Amino acid sequence: MRINHSLAIISLLVFIAIYSCSPEEEDTILPTAESSAFEEDTTPPITEAAPFTFEYNLHSSLDKHGYFKDSIQSILPALNNLMPISPYYDSSTKLQINGVNIYSWIREDVFKPFSSIIGETEQCICGEVDNHLVMSLEMSEEYDFNDGNNFKYALLAHEFFHVFQISKSQGFDQSVFWMIEGQAATIESLYMKEYIKDSNYLLNFLNQDSLEDGIKNVEEYESYEGFFKSLPQYGDISVFMNLALAKVLQEQGNTEKESFLMIFENYWESDPNQANWKTKFEQVFGITISDFYQRLNDFKTNPETLIPEISLSDIFQNN
Ligand SMILES: [Zn+2]
Repeated sequence: MRINHSLAIISLLVFIAIYSCSPEEEDTILPTAESSAFEEDTTPPITEAAPFTFEYNLHSSLDKHGYFKDSIQSILPALNNLMPISPYYDSSTKLQINGVNIYSWIREDVFKPFSSIIGETEQCICGEVDNHLVMSLEMSEEYDFNDGNNFKYALLAHEFFHVFQISKSQGFDQSVFWMIEGQAATIESLYMKEYIKDSNYLLNFLNQDSLEDGIKNVEEYESYEGFFKSLPQYGDISVFMNLALAKVLQEQGNTEKESFLMIFENYWESDPNQANWKTKFEQVFGITISDFYQRLNDFKTNPETLIPEISLSDIFQNN
């Protein structure tokens, strides 16, 4: 018992020695382990922010599509280089979030292989495990790996951006559909245009037959429930709404890059909640939500004029 305990301590010390040079551990371990070194100097040690980690749990059912398995592990860190995510403390759940655990499998081959850890999830950012968010990527052999179907790459950009939004607002305290999902769909569309060379992907979001009816019922898009009720009748106007917002911000004198950064970053940094999100909207964007909803009518006849000139990488690069 005692021997095992000593071995455990030695292992721990070796672990600390190996990892103490990484910024993540400097924050948490060094000041405690070497407290005497800091006794005379009252200045807090300068430490780099800990990195946000990505941990992969990719089921063997994906092995036959090894290229996609590799893509998950290369695209998500590349997006994180472009749009860096930082660890955060969620004061609602009282949880420190240091990264995201990614789970993926092919549903025709295996039934929810990670359900004991993450529940019976599909495609979502759903819950937390060990101070990491959960990214569930259930793939379909029939749909996702059909020749020429690139939705699986859009999905990576989409779910990555949810993690970005959540981290910027230090945990979601609201569920405004058109802001959350419309932005993730905008990001995935810009990703498809720039990296998969698919411009129609974005265009398809804007070519809605019932745009006018959607705008008349725009408040339905404020909730997930309202969205699912409206989808069969008016389609998904949430990308249109975010691109219209970017246009309105440019009319106010902001550059295209500034406008998108206000939408994708500043809004979330204002930490909106269900009670104050309309006030935060007005503070960040300088227009009331009702005035903005009225402005949507100005773009309904030619929604393709809303297609951004700026690319995804130009929005976030050197930011
Ligand atoms: Zn989503």
